[in-house]
Amino acid sequence: MKVFDTINETENHLKSFQNKSIGFVPTMGALHEGHIALIKKSVAKNDLTVCSIFVNPTQFNNPEDLKKYPRTLDEDCKMLEEAGCDVVFAPTAEEMYPNLPQIKLNFGYLEEIMEGKFRPGHFNGVGIVVAKLFNIVKPNKTYFGQKDIQQVAVINRLVKDLSFDLEMIVCDTIRENDGLAMSSRNRRLSKGARDLAPKIYESLKLGEKLLLAGESTESVKSKVSEFYLNYPEFELEYYEITDFESLESISEHNPKRRTAIIIAAHLGGVRLIDNHVF
Ligand code: AMP
Repeated sequence: MKVFDTINETENHLKSFQNKSIGFVPTMGALHEGHIALIKKSVAKNDLTVCSIFVNPTQFNNPEDLKKYPRTLDEDCKMLEEAGCDVVFAPTAEEMYPNLPQIKLNFGYLEEIMEGKFRPGHFNGVGIVVAKLFNIVKPNKTYFGQKDIQQVAVINRLVKDLSFDLEMIVCDTIRENDGLAMSSRNRRLSKGARDLAPKIYESLKLGEKLLLAGESTESVKSKVSEFYLNYPEFELEYYEITDFESLESISEHNPKRRTAIIIAAHLGGVRLIDNHVF
């Protein structure tokens, strides 16, 4: 497995694979089985798998969150090698941004809801860095996690609007045995917070149960607020019930369509997101 920290080395190396299929998995490192599932999917379907590890400063609206984001490059590389990854691109911020980008990306409606609303500028940062990475790696296929459901919608738009010639593959959320969605941020949870964290998934499943029983989304939201009254350690940022395709709020579950319940909550100083689609 090759590990590069410059754009030049990465591009030069990848030039010799021009006629091969390249699968690409962009990450921010501190890898876990969720990331590795994406890598394995890519390894199974492509001649070459590239993983980027870059904690992208321009997508963090909270400087503390950026500072505390876990960085574990040596361990990450071991996991990637074992999973069959071929190339790791792990640049510094200076390498990616000799000058800060002047362009701004605006994803319209997606900016106004959930992650867009609570993390102003986040998707501008995500969109620009992913576009840069696509231009550097030139993948045939790219793999993203359903865990970041709104990011999937943003990257879909980016690929369509800028005509990136690649296929995007979305992979299911990988969970711990107790239901907690795997996340790099889970490492920052204290023992007490880690024990409580599966309540997030529990609240998503509760929502599903109530919606399938015919309750309105308004009633479900109020019952979920009551659920969290029992766990004051959580600070709920949002709990939205939307149509899976459009991510627009709905008033009840339509059995003919897929519904997504999407949550963001703070627990012990760590911001966690999750979603459940049914
Ligand atoms: P991140 O390093 O958090 O930026 O994530 C890199 C990629 O891994 C993104 O496409 C995420 O959606 C995906 N990912 C993160 N956690 C999980 C998970 N638990 N299951 C599946 N994919 C995930």
